[in-house]
Amino acid sequence: MNDVIRVAVLGAGGLGKAAAAVLERKREMRLVAICDRGGILHAPAGVDSGAVIALDPKRFVCDLSGGYATNDSIGEMVELGRAGAYDGVFLALPNLPNEFFPSVLTRFLDAGVSTCFVDALKRTKAAELMFALGDRVTATKSTYLLGCGATPGLLTAAAVVAAQSFVSVERVKIRWGVGIANWDAYRATVREDIAHLPGYTVEKAQAMTDAEVDTLLDKTDGRLVLEEMEHADDLMLQRAGVVERADQVEVGGVLDTRSAKKPVTTTMTITGTTFQGLRATHTFTLGDETSMAANVIGPALGYLKRALWLRARGIHGIFGSTEQMPMIVR
Ligand code: NAD
Repeated sequence: MNDVIRVAVLGAGGLGKAAAAVLERKREMRLVAICDRGGILHAPAGVDSGAVIALDPKRFVCDLSGGYATNDSIGEMVELGRAGAYDGVFLALPNLPNEFFPSVLTRFLDAGVSTCFVDALKRTKAAELMFALGDRVTATKSTYLLGCGATPGLLTAAAVVAAQSFVSVERVKIRWGVGIANWDAYRATVREDIAHLPGYTVEKAQAMTDAEVDTLLDKTDGRLVLEEMEHADDLMLQRAGVVERADQVEVGGVLDTRSAKKPVTTTMTITGTTFQGLRATHTFTLGDETSMAANVIGPALGYLKRALWLRARGIHGIFGSTEQMPMIVR
């Protein structure tokens, strides 16, 4: 491993660009490759993050100096991985359909790439499909930390820490608020949230045209209110032993696509019983000034550093963000 952790980011949408912006501030990590649907940008000495951040959502990284167009940018990233061009990968791709992330990981596994991965995956079904690839990840001596965004991620891991006060946990409730000024900047996030609305599915949300998304958002004044989401926090808190059943975990939230201000404060509450038989609730509240991007990218990079730490000690396989602690990236 080099002194500076060389990072590749798959996806250059809202979160991919935010990752470039955060990496710009880190001396222990450097962005060396980023790709999107249109192409790839690889720069061993460091990608020009400013150019990536400023890229119009309708353009691709291949339009930037040093970038090149390809209709298989994932395949190009796999090749770079085989050549040892990076130390870790952050997958900031759309989770549409649920099989997409497993298919991307399978390509790395088939090629025998041995590296570290983190994602900000959200859906329970997609997470199940990913965990099923655990033995293959171990066989390639890779370390993959899953669900390392805000939820699942920061809030779910906080629930594991908070659960330590109790001998039994009744429920974990996550209520998030996200404000984005323009849905175009986070297209996958918005579509995936639409998929949670009553009457919608992942497939239906994926098939919607931009005009149809606009029409839906016009009807709701730009807001989506989501209840009882199919979120992998349930699976991951079960894996960590915080709860026994998925129905003890509830995730919901409000997304405003017309203002960067959070429509509601994000909280994680955990209710349990202490060894003295007293029932109590801990509440973890995120500061309203922290954007979705801040609460996803910080943890994702912190977990990527942890993934490298684990892999350097011979610990391979797929783990949830509830099973490890993120590290601080200086
Ligand atoms: P986005 O739509 O803004 O960007 C997606 C990027 O992926 C684009 O650059 C697109 O070109 C690229 N892409 C799509 N298909 C590709 C392919 N086949 N090959 C290469 N590149 C491809 O997405 P976003 O809003 O930044 O969200 C990214 C992911 O982050 C979503 O899955 C979302 O659910 C997740 N997310 C997680 C959390 C969390 O807290 N866990 C919060 C927000 C978003």
